[in-house]
Amino acid sequence: MSEHKDFLRLKVEEDLKQGKYKEVVTRFPPEPNGFPHIGHAKSICINFGIAKDYLGHCNLRMDDTNPTTEDTRYVEALKDAVKWLGFDWGEQVYFTSDYFPKIYEYAVQLVKMGKAYVDSLDEEQIREYRGTVTQPGRRSEYANRSVEENLNLLERMRQGEFKEGEHVLRAKIDMSAANMKMRDPLLYRIRHAHHFRTENEWCIYPMYDFAHCLSDYIEGVSHSICTLEFENNRDIYDWVLDTLKLEPPRPYQHEFARLGINYTVMSKRKLLELVNGGYVSGWDDPRMPTIAGYKRRGYTPESILNFCDQIGIAKANSMVDVSQLEFCIRDDLNQKVPRVMCVLDPIKVTIENYEGSEEIDASYYPHDVPKEGSRKVPFSKELYIEREDFMENPVKGYNRLTPDQPVRLRHAYIITCKEVIKDANGEVLEIKATYHPNSKSGQDKSGIKVKSAIQWVDAKTARKIEVRLYDRLYKNEAPESVEDLNPHSLHIIKNALIEPAVITDKVDERFQFERQGYFYKDPVDYKDEAPVFNKIVGLKDSWAKKTKVDESAAKPTPKPEVKKEVIHGEAQAMNESQQAFFDKYTNELKLNDEVANILARDEKLSSFYNETLDYLSRLHFLNQLSFNLENCNILAANIVANEVAKELKEKSVEELKFTTSHIAQLVKMVEEETISSKIAKEVFEQMTQNGESPTHIVEAKGLVQISDPAVILPIIDDIIAKNPDNVKKFKAGNSKLLGFFVGQVLKTTGGKANPKVVNELVAQQLNA
Ligand code: ATP
Ligand code: MG
Repeated sequence: MSEHKDFLRLKVEEDLKQGKYKEVVTRFPPEPNGFPHIGHAKSICINFGIAKDYLGHCNLRMDDTNPTTEDTRYVEALKDAVKWLGFDWGEQVYFTSDYFPKIYEYAVQLVKMGKAYVDSLDEEQIREYRGTVTQPGRRSEYANRSVEENLNLLERMRQGEFKEGEHVLRAKIDMSAANMKMRDPLLYRIRHAHHFRTENEWCIYPMYDFAHCLSDYIEGVSHSICTLEFENNRDIYDWVLDTLKLEPPRPYQHEFARLGINYTVMSKRKLLELVNGGYVSGWDDPRMPTIAGYKRRGYTPESILNFCDQIGIAKANSMVDVSQLEFCIRDDLNQKVPRVMCVLDPIKVTIENYEGSEEIDASYYPHDVPKEGSRKVPFSKELYIEREDFMENPVKGYNRLTPDQPVRLRHAYIITCKEVIKDANGEVLEIKATYHPNSKSGQDKSGIKVKSAIQWVDAKTARKIEVRLYDRLYKNEAPESVEDLNPHSLHIIKNALIEPAVITDKVDERFQFERQGYFYKDPVDYKDEAPVFNKIVGLKDSWAKKTKVDESAAKPTPKPEVKKEVIHGEAQAMNESQQAFFDKYTNELKLNDEVANILARDEKLSSFYNETLDYLSRLHFLNQLSFNLENCNILAANIVANEVAKELKEKSVEELKFTTSHIAQLVKMVEEETISSKIAKEVFEQMTQNGESPTHIVEAKGLVQISDPAVILPIIDDIIAKNPDNVKKFKAGNSKLLGFFVGQVLKTTGGKANPKVVNELVAQQLNA
């Protein structure tokens, strides 16, 4: 249990302290009219979680009072979901329908007490008599029926003498109550319908408000936890239990905020519409926000539990960003699952100077060196790489294979492109390449510098697989209807290629396909002969990335004249773990070679940096993804490779005054432009001296960056006024003087002014 207790747990503790209950009993009471969704997961976590924390019990109860919508199929789905999330409801599943006889007895009792009556108004009249929020209602004339008459009518209702809607049973409370729900609420209605459990035994069914509190009481529930929309029903809950003068202890209702997630719908009714309308393949379609959908997609129960834990329990409804859930699954799988190579859009590479074949021993956990486990990856003359990993006319900053830029084949050799073979339309069909025999990963003596390592598969042994890529089900953040469905939420790739070790008859396996994302063997369609994989989630938040400039959409740079291959004669080969870090730093984190090289080769630095990355990703999450993590990772790399490296030349990590979390905080402040990078250096100096946290230093010294034009403008105007000569020269065309003015402003503010803002404002004032 986390230290910070939510209001429900505080309430439970108070009740236990006061001896109100001997044991905490909660319940999860779904209506079996659809598959449970992630909102239900929250309710499951709360109800079962609280019971577990206080050594009590949580009942799984099917709230099956509506015969027309319910089905055993949904009961099974609900049981599956609770079980899959790791909770235990004990010996039996409870059903409200099992209490129908008991609930009927309570109804008779209320009638006998003069607290309930049979009303014969029709639906419309009932509504009309109820009044409005501003107007009190009036009571039906049937409310004057005698107890005997009511008992007689109720019994005949039960016997099936009347048509639907002819009569209802109502509580006699208060037709002018401010809470509209208390204006003689309905307790029973007639439904001539077959019930999936009681079959045709009953033709009257208790309403939620009557059945729920009594079911709780019958089961000895202590805390009846539900969502906020039931707040107004609490009065009826209390009224029923109190009026019947039931033997204590009785349960009390407590409400919490419903979970909503953007880009999806969260109501069984709307989800049913998707299933029935054929918009998805079923309740367990991997795009559905149902537990069955997440399960089939490859989410782990741990990731969902973590998510529910992190969103917390509150009393105000709010919308949670779906990327928070995606973060949880990524975070869970990152360390757990083996990494393998798969090529989604293959392009052939023939290595002209390679003959024969070999098997390369490749770690399944290259990022986590102590973790054991590896497989043999076949290597030979003919390979496939990702089409995207080759560019004939590369854009600026393209780090992968080009006619002039060699690349490392992950776990294997460096190759150089020699020739590009194209079809009549200019489509690349094949790349002829050479490999560098002494460049093998982990034993690289070639000295060839490459900017990245790419995945590949061996043509002869690779296995063909189907890959299903999923995107958000809806294109709108707050979807209303099927019109808002994302037409590109499913993309099927039929002919992806994967290294052979992955294909076995084992199911329920997850992998990271390096550089692609996390994948799961589809539990329904996967076959050894025709393997199908679901993409669980990408390696990064792809929606955050989509707003940035797409690498391939950028303008191609002119082809360089000179070959850029740099050969360092004596560079020492990296060992396998160093190489793995280097690859990760350059590929995933987009660090430049030089920084990646410094970090990867020094164990102290790489472990320091890796820990800083962890902190950053946690900060990122805790701050609701409010800052740019990629930039922070790069900033942190620079600080670690330069500043921290200097410190670590003389000291061990234990001797440092500052920690990795300090560096993460510092970098975050720079990225968020709270402080300038100049001030960051000053703060860092201080951190090395006294170990204070950077946020403290910045606050205490008032170093927060000034970005407010209202503060900066007067300073600029002042400097402009004091330097009329330079203004004249600037206006005459000496644009270099812009730098002079900017420099003066920064100096005046002690380096605290935001340089970007200053630049813009200076230009604006000078050109005014
Ligand atoms: P839906 O509107 O999706 O059909 P519901 O509230 O009708 O949901 P039930 O089967 O009656 O679904 O709910 C079972 C339990 O799950 C209830 O206690 C309900 O409050 C809770 N629950 C349902 N949806 C959510 C949600 N989005 N967030 C948290 N709890 C939820
Ligand atoms: Mg409901």
